Amino acid sequence: MSTGYPIDLHTHSIASDGALTPTELIVRAAARGVRIQALSDHDTLLGVVEAVAEGERRGVRVIPATELNTESEWGDVHVLAYFVDPKDDALEVRLRWLRENRGRRLELMVEKLNGLGYAVSIDRVREIAQGGALGRPHLAQALFEAGHVPTYDRAFETLISKDSPAYVSRVGLAPLEAVALVREHGGVPSLAHPGTVEGLERLLPQLVRAGLVGIECYYPSHTPAFTAECLRLSVRYELVATGGSDFHGRGEHGADLGGVFVPPESVASLETHQARR
Ligand SMILES: [Zn+2]
Ligand SMILES: [Zn+2]
Repeated sequence: MSTGYPIDLHTHSIASDGALTPTELIVRAAARGVRIQALSDHDTLLGVVEAVAEGERRGVRVIPATELNTESEWGDVHVLAYFVDPKDDALEVRLRWLRENRGRRLELMVEKLNGLGYAVSIDRVREIAQGGALGRPHLAQALFEAGHVPTYDRAFETLISKDSPAYVSRVGLAPLEAVALVREHGGVPSLAHPGTVEGLERLLPQLVRAGLVGIECYYPSHTPAFTAECLRLSVRYELVATGGSDFHGRGEHGADLGGVFVPPESVASLETHQARR
């Protein structure tokens, strides 16, 4: 297996919509030379304990994290929460509410698909998720294996992406609420893949006022020009420039574990903010 860069601050396991168990993920990370990795499953910390334990065996330092998806007119605003505590029961209550909303959203999408003549069941979608936080990738997989689409990606493109016939918007946190939630629970929030935000220049100062600490400058789909733009914003708003592969192991994202360069100062700066909280 080819090696990657040693730091990856954005990865997913089957605790949300990734394909690998936390253990498998860390085994793969170690084999690729990753030494510091954040497990950032959507709306859950349930994979963190297993990942930390495997990381201790393999020499990978695992940073507990989660990625909060939000609903607003600002496009896809995802907030990474670093150094949150998997034993924080009050946070778990909030995350469970978000996961339940995910379940209801997927049920509504399945109903729409059935109405459109695509036979697919929520039970099969839940089976594919193996108990993890439900997401559209699980539904795409179910559509693909039922033969409704020729590829997994086509399910997204033609049926379940925004503006597609079976799309249902989520009920959840607004972007500023997500940042505030992370801060309330002692976490360090960073704006994930800023390229999916609509109106970034206008939203970012609001997020900063709400307590945003970082911005994900290093990301597989970023062009060098957009990375430079994000770095410029990180300087202007005194944000930590973070980065990661967003590896899901389902082939829909561009990079493998450790697939993008992330400077060691990223981790050091996030830690400084954690200590300051
Ligand atoms: Zn995301
Ligand atoms: Zn992600």
